[in-house]
Amino acid sequence: MQSTSGDITMIETRQLTKRYGDLTAVDGISFKLEPGRVLGFLGPNGAGKSTTMKMIAGFLAPTSGSASVCGHDVVDDAIAAKRMLGYLPEGAPSYGEMTPLRFLDFVADVRGLSGAKRAQRIDDVIERLHLNGVLEQPIETLSKGFKRRVGLAQAIVHDPQVLILDEPTDGLDPNQKHEVRALINRLAADKTIIVSTHILEEVHAVCSRAIIIARGRVLADATPAELETRSRYHQAVSLTAANMSAAKEALSKVADVAAVEIDPQDHRITAFPKPGRQIFIAVNQALQAQGVAVSEMQLESGRLDEVFRTITQGSGQEARA
Ligand code: ADP
Repeated sequence: MQSTSGDITMIETRQLTKRYGDLTAVDGISFKLEPGRVLGFLGPNGAGKSTTMKMIAGFLAPTSGSASVCGHDVVDDAIAAKRMLGYLPEGAPSYGEMTPLRFLDFVADVRGLSGAKRAQRIDDVIERLHLNGVLEQPIETLSKGFKRRVGLAQAIVHDPQVLILDEPTDGLDPNQKHEVRALINRLAADKTIIVSTHILEEVHAVCSRAIIIARGRVLADATPAELETRSRYHQAVSLTAANMSAAKEALSKVADVAAVEIDPQDHRITAFPKPGRQIFIAVNQALQAQGVAVSEMQLESGRLDEVFRTITQGSGQEARA
């Protein structure tokens, strides 16, 4: 573990870069991650998320730059670095013909576990991932949800301090997604985690910090709440009213309201504040004064999907796709 003036860094990348011929898939990514954080790695398809994670996990050599896990360089000190981390690659586990039990036995061997500790760790992950009912069934015959659980089980069998999870909820149904997110939250109690996703609701559900990348570059690095403040919906007030034109007129007269819009799809009316202004109380008073009946009204914290689009669209990502 690296320690400078009391700071502990679990993962660090320095100008991490990967080129495939003319294509720069990862372009000088640098960040540090402290213990106990869950970092969401966000970006459109092809942004470079998997490539970055593979390099941190020691499965792909960087073209230039470096990465370290708990102070161990992933290239020069690869064995020590790998010992500290668990990695869930995208998709299903390899070795589909094996049963989960055989696969976990195999992974425990590779991880150097033995004796009582080995048995206890395997029992622990079977229990945590609810794998008891499928232990003797070939992995390739399992549902997607169970395959992902087997993948997660192999990632945590040696109880690593650092977890790298590549799209852990991709392709799962809503219940399975919920279950995997709950598991990540439980693991976050004593682990440092990087989780890649292109699903924005995941950022709120599991992450304390988000890095947005596109074309292999970091475009934003902030907490989910900070990202929301960049949304034009931050501190906006949206509502539904039977008489939309009366509501729109009442809102337009509020001094700190910059604009009023009606969503053509759901017919919600949104009042956007002037920069830095709070309008909820004034909006409420204006509606009451004009006698406009409102069925429901809410203060918006900001919309991550809009922030994500604004940040990544300017990057020319589509041109490459
Ligand atoms: P993400 O995980 O964000 O979807 P990836 O890291 O998988 O993105 O890919 C980043 C870019 O690198 C993409 O343009 C992809 O086509 C390219 N790429 C990934 N792996 C290879 C490879 N082995 N050979 C050539 N290009 C690759």
